[in-house]
Amino acid sequence: MAHKLADSLLRMIDSDYFPEGADVVRTKPEKFEFFRSVPFIILHLGCLGVIWTGWSWAAVATAVALYFIRMFAITGLYHRYFCHRAYKTSRAAQFLFGLLGLTAVQRGPLWWASVHRYHHAHSDEDSDAHSPVCKGFIWSHIGWLTSSRNFPTDYKMVRDLQKFPELVFLNRFDLIGPLLLLGFLAIWGALLQAVSPGLGTDPWQMIVWGFFISTTVLFHATCGVNSFAHTLGSKRFPTGDESRNSLVLALFTLGEGWHNNHHHYQASARQGFYWWEIDISYYIIRLLGALGIVWEIKGVPQKVLESAPGGKFAGR
Ligand SMILES: [Zn+2]
Ligand SMILES: [Zn+2]
Repeated sequence: MAHKLADSLLRMIDSDYFPEGADVVRTKPEKFEFFRSVPFIILHLGCLGVIWTGWSWAAVATAVALYFIRMFAITGLYHRYFCHRAYKTSRAAQFLFGLLGLTAVQRGPLWWASVHRYHHAHSDEDSDAHSPVCKGFIWSHIGWLTSSRNFPTDYKMVRDLQKFPELVFLNRFDLIGPLLLLGFLAIWGALLQAVSPGLGTDPWQMIVWGFFISTTVLFHATCGVNSFAHTLGSKRFPTGDESRNSLVLALFTLGEGWHNNHHHYQASARQGFYWWEIDISYYIIRLLGALGIVWEIKGVPQKVLESAPGGKFAGR
């Protein structure tokens, strides 16, 4: 028991710490594991801190801003850049993208990309870690994250990213992200308290709203792409899996709700294929392109659009 707890704590610091070998861990049976669920329990319980800290407009605004900034980090950076290489950027920006992604508390960019690339290769098949079709809704939403077999990074899936030692470093020590965020929120809360006491905020209130509440909502919205986006919505393309398109999910996830489009054509930086399919992450990527921070942004080829059932769509 004590040895299991010590291993879990060491793995929180170093994500590649597997004394028994990562390949051995990956072959373990798929099951709910209490030790792996402790960080999620702490994250959710932390939201109850609001009972003691209360709220202020400054804290709520910070939580909302951090939700959208970090949702973009997941969708526009982790997903569309690291996983699908849908556009190019400089090595320095790539590092900063990875660092920003860590603050979303969804582990490192190589782990995230490795799991997601496997999902595309085996979508809604038995080996897909988070298929609601094969393993049920709750398992696809959160259960799979508690199974230690899904914890090691499968570096075979991300050889292109592994070439960059600085990205491997971020992936290994992903705890840096949450610690940076907590530090920022403590300073931000203290600063506002000192400069403008009338706002009624303080460091602990900022941490409860900006870290615990914002991250919990972000976590469930992101998990919704695994669970809801493979169960609710419409299917435009026959992709051979249960991926769906949903405007509601697209609004919450800055464009990831166009999941059936994305499963059909993964290489594009754009997941809302038509002008009426709102895809905020794509608009931000275009803005980064206009600023010269990213380039070679991949679009959707005309032949892919024309292959949509129901004929050709016009007015892109
Ligand atoms: Zn999917
Ligand atoms: Zn994808």
